[in-house]
Amino acid sequence: MDIMPNNLKRQYELHAAEYEAKALEVLRSGWYVLGKEVAAFEEEFAAYLGGGYCVGLASGLDALWIAFKVLGIGQGDEVIVASNAYIACVMGITMAGATPVFVEPDEYNNLDPGKIEQAVTEKTRAILPVHLYGQACDMDVVMDVAARHGLLVVEDCAQSHGATWKGKATGTFGQVGCFSFYPTKNCGAFGDAGAVVVQSEELAQKFRVFRNYGSSKQYHFDVVGANSRLDEIQAGLLRVRLAHLRDFNAEREAIATRYLQELNQPALQLPSLRQGAQSVWHQFVIHSQKRDALREYLTKQGIGTIIHYPIPPHLSRAYAYLGYKPGDFSVAERFAGEVLSLPIYNGMTEQEQTRVIKAINAFEG
Ligand SMILES: *Cc1c(COP(=O)(O)O)cnc(C)c1O
Repeated sequence: MDIMPNNLKRQYELHAAEYEAKALEVLRSGWYVLGKEVAAFEEEFAAYLGGGYCVGLASGLDALWIAFKVLGIGQGDEVIVASNAYIACVMGITMAGATPVFVEPDEYNNLDPGKIEQAVTEKTRAILPVHLYGQACDMDVVMDVAARHGLLVVEDCAQSHGATWKGKATGTFGQVGCFSFYPTKNCGAFGDAGAVVVQSEELAQKFRVFRNYGSSKQYHFDVVGANSRLDEIQAGLLRVRLAHLRDFNAEREAIATRYLQELNQPALQLPSLRQGAQSVWHQFVIHSQKRDALREYLTKQGIGTIIHYPIPPHLSRAYAYLGYKPGDFSVAERFAGEVLSLPIYNGMTEQEQTRVIKAINAFEG
């Protein structure tokens, strides 16, 4: 594969000297878990989003399940989530003991705003909007439904670092914004890392306690927590990454804009943005009835693509116990057969993108 769907090495090489200097600084500091790099990153990341309190955790999945735990959502409670979301979104709900209730996506690949309210029952406690592929969900409708039914909102921003809905950052609408810094994400670490962003110091403190075995003071345990601490080295490297995030997101937007302008293949539908929503183009996802043939054709030309995701969560073997069958969420099932993520990464050259565009436009589907 000479053009990869994602190219982490290229991204590292853009600022290699800065990452290396920071890694050495942390190694030589003698302090490796929850220290000054974590505290500085938390402050800088919250400021980047326009306010609130950030608490670093070990992964995006931890951010989700710990959010539900801290909010007191669990056994017997229902959480509304899009039927085409990533499996981690659903696992975040079930690890807390709660039950996912699926709502179909619309043409923007996010929760269909017209279908959220129908899914509310007596047991619903929260809505989990997932800002998929980098595009913000319609947060007006999510917040309105939540307010009218007394529901909490936990946002999954693993793919939407910096994306906004009507100018306000994703992750700052609900009670908790959950972030992953897995290496492929827009703001990626060099290993696993995650965080939550909340709007009150009191709630932030609950996460700080939970991530460290439930202890507020050394060897005093207030709640049954977890070990979900963020490493100093990852936090330090994330600070370097965050300092370039606006540029990284702008570069992704330029790549997406060029795809939108120059792809003219009738066998595919290009992504579009909802009025009011902005995308940070975590993925550039097209839909095509000839997806599999297109993908095979591109692979033969050395162009890598990914399917996000081939099996919707309700049909995943892991969730067989929920009792769903094919046809239950037909939009998500159709999307699973149509979506294809084209190469998009920081450091992608103009020539590389030209090759992808020419190859796709020449496809005789
Ligand atoms: C990556 C991702 C997660 C999980 O994050 P990890 O850090 O891998 O645990 C959750 N939700 C979405 C939408 C993701 O893309």
